[in-house]
Amino acid sequence: MDKQWIFLGDTFVKKEDAVVSVYDHGFLYGDGVFEGIRVYSGNIFKLHEHLKRLYESAQSIMLNVPYTEEEMERIIVDTIRRNQLENAYIRVVVSRGPGNLGLDPRHCSQPRVIVIAEALALYPKELYEKGLRIASVASRRNRPDVLSPQVKSLNYLNNILVKLEANQAGVDEALMLNDQGYVTEGSADNIFIIKNETIYTPPVYLGALEGITRNAIIDLAREKNYEVKEAPFTRHDVYVADEVFLTGTAVEVIAVIEVDGRPIKDGKPGSITNNLLKEFRRVVTTDGVDCYPSENQNKAV
Ligand code: PMP
Repeated sequence: MDKQWIFLGDTFVKKEDAVVSVYDHGFLYGDGVFEGIRVYSGNIFKLHEHLKRLYESAQSIMLNVPYTEEEMERIIVDTIRRNQLENAYIRVVVSRGPGNLGLDPRHCSQPRVIVIAEALALYPKELYEKGLRIASVASRRNRPDVLSPQVKSLNYLNNILVKLEANQAGVDEALMLNDQGYVTEGSADNIFIIKNETIYTPPVYLGALEGITRNAIIDLAREKNYEVKEAPFTRHDVYVADEVFLTGTAVEVIAVIEVDGRPIKDGKPGSITNNLLKEFRRVVTTDGVDCYPSENQNKAV
């Protein structure tokens, strides 16, 4: 496979030809929405959940996606097949499209759809064995009444600013608080803490994206008879937790072993976190949309 094909507008183009207008409001103003999705052994994990979130983000910003959810599913599956991918990361972008230099979206007549699928550069295995060091940052999470964290918009400056702060602090990831000091999430991942075998994650109304991995982990943990509570907590609760971990499409489930210089317990990934990662990796190849159903049937025969 020498060429990479990207869906752009209404057709597939070669990677070198996949360019958008400098007048696109996605570029000029971050005006658009996106999703990051994973494919595991040809299975697009939780594709319907990702599509639902994409269309809800678009609805929230009054952006008309020029395809139905069924058509978009087809386009995404075709992108995977055309690039002959088995394990991949998919980026779906819907921008307001080209307009003029003014803000007014009424000048953008053609929203633009982009689907990129690439073989994934996996996070190194050592990172899962070692765990992450994270630090709380000065920049607060967007208030939900200003720019809702539920809108997965192309405006990710809030997240980029906290990533810069984490880089400056020499740690792996940022811990974002809301304007009241409650823990919300990382720059692109949700946070969980475990205390006395109960698993806690912040309710999304405090200012966290309702992560699809987050919800999958809540379901898996409950299936395994753990108590899971969506409840507000502060940095102190994180510092004294038995285990801390992050979840996200890219990172899956990863242990946090240090927060603001405080080691979490013995400073090693915890056993419940490791179990949940194992369970998660078990379900990712089945729970979603199969890109190669006929080939897989043949394999089974
Ligand atoms: N929070 C933010 C801000 C994110 O960008 C992401 C990545 N989409 C997540 C959490 C994790 O969400 P998901 O599990 O759906 O990838």
